[in-house]
Amino acid sequence: MITLKETLMNRRSFVQTVGVGAVGALTALKADLGAQVPAPTTAPAARRAAGAAANAIRIGANENPYGPASSAIDAIARVAGGANRYPGVLIGDLMTTVAAKHEVATDMVLLSGGSGDILDAMVKAYTSKTKALVTGLPSYEQPSRGAQRLGSPVIDVPLTSELRLDTNAMAAKATGAGLVYICNPNNPTSTVVPLSEVTALIEAVVKASPTTRILVDEAYFEYADMPGFGTATPLAKKYPQVIVARTLSKIHGMAGMRVGYALAQPKTLAEIREFHSGSGLSSMSLAAANASLKDTANMEKNRTMNRAVRAFTAEAFTRAGYTVAASDANFIFVNIKRDARGFQDACRLKGVMVGRAFPPMTTWARISIGTQDEMDKAVPVFMSVLAAAPTQTASFDHLDLLPSELT
Ligand code: PLP
Repeated sequence: MITLKETLMNRRSFVQTVGVGAVGALTALKADLGAQVPAPTTAPAARRAAGAAANAIRIGANENPYGPASSAIDAIARVAGGANRYPGVLIGDLMTTVAAKHEVATDMVLLSGGSGDILDAMVKAYTSKTKALVTGLPSYEQPSRGAQRLGSPVIDVPLTSELRLDTNAMAAKATGAGLVYICNPNNPTSTVVPLSEVTALIEAVVKASPTTRILVDEAYFEYADMPGFGTATPLAKKYPQVIVARTLSKIHGMAGMRVGYALAQPKTLAEIREFHSGSGLSSMSLAAANASLKDTANMEKNRTMNRAVRAFTAEAFTRAGYTVAASDANFIFVNIKRDARGFQDACRLKGVMVGRAFPPMTTWARISIGTQDEMDKAVPVFMSVLAAAPTQTASFDHLDLLPSELT
């Protein structure tokens, strides 16, 4: 059993101490990986330089290390010459493919330049100063950041002792709320809740608080293996309160192409469209997404490789005495028993970029699963950082992070 003890501290206590001598650490980086990095002037500069090095191992943003499907790259090549025209017909093609894949009508599909824009639009559509967002703590922070920007209350519901969303507690807090955010699998903890629990939450909320909307974010859906896990799409067909969000950024390896979509009843999508800027998709993104969604062999290959490398990485930590949360995603969440910012910084200075700290669980590290070759190199770095005393440096904030590290 994993306990949240000692981690329930103020999520804003974000000033951390890290502190590797920048020059020494960069020398080590060069020795470790043969990197060509610019000379640092300050510790943040050293961090940026190390992160920008061409051969840095990027396992900090839950990206797919294998790249897009070759079928997607071929599709891009086929349409690129027509990029002088607006995408028109390609939008219809992708909507048809998405609808067929999820067994819904095309009027239940809203395409988006990444699913993050759908999350943002929903927070704007459904929360306000009097309509709260209900979310897990910790969970993917984009909705709660959006709500805070709007001045909407955020009700943070701590996870269970197994680091899963506490769907009963979330349902209990939902009455009168504007939006309940269910991230399943949950980022950053990598855990899932079964469809039976999501269904029970939805049915309880629909009954007790029919104006509350429920967003089920299935960004990491395809990586989950847990028996009983399943999509909430049938519930979106049944209830106007339910919206499912999906992205092509993860198993499809298309984070740089920015494609996502929402599935909901047409009336519900109309509410979201009021706050959504339109699909924002290029011909190349649309064609690549269409090809990739049809490429089930590529998806299966990705799933299989992720599963094997995830087991390898989790086992390395477990063998070394660290607790790893049960992962159903392309990342793991490890109790490193020390400040995660210091760990992130020390790893980055050795050319390995892992996830940031996720308050209140600031002694847990989120590590995305790279290729086997990358993890063969990264694991010894993790172990050498963890074998050394925790290091100290000046405090820093989000401004020091590369955009992808806010994922
Ligand atoms: N939802 C979750 C849970 C995520 O982790 C992310 C990105 O990491 C997103 C949504 C946004 O994905 P994108 O905007 O790339 O589709």
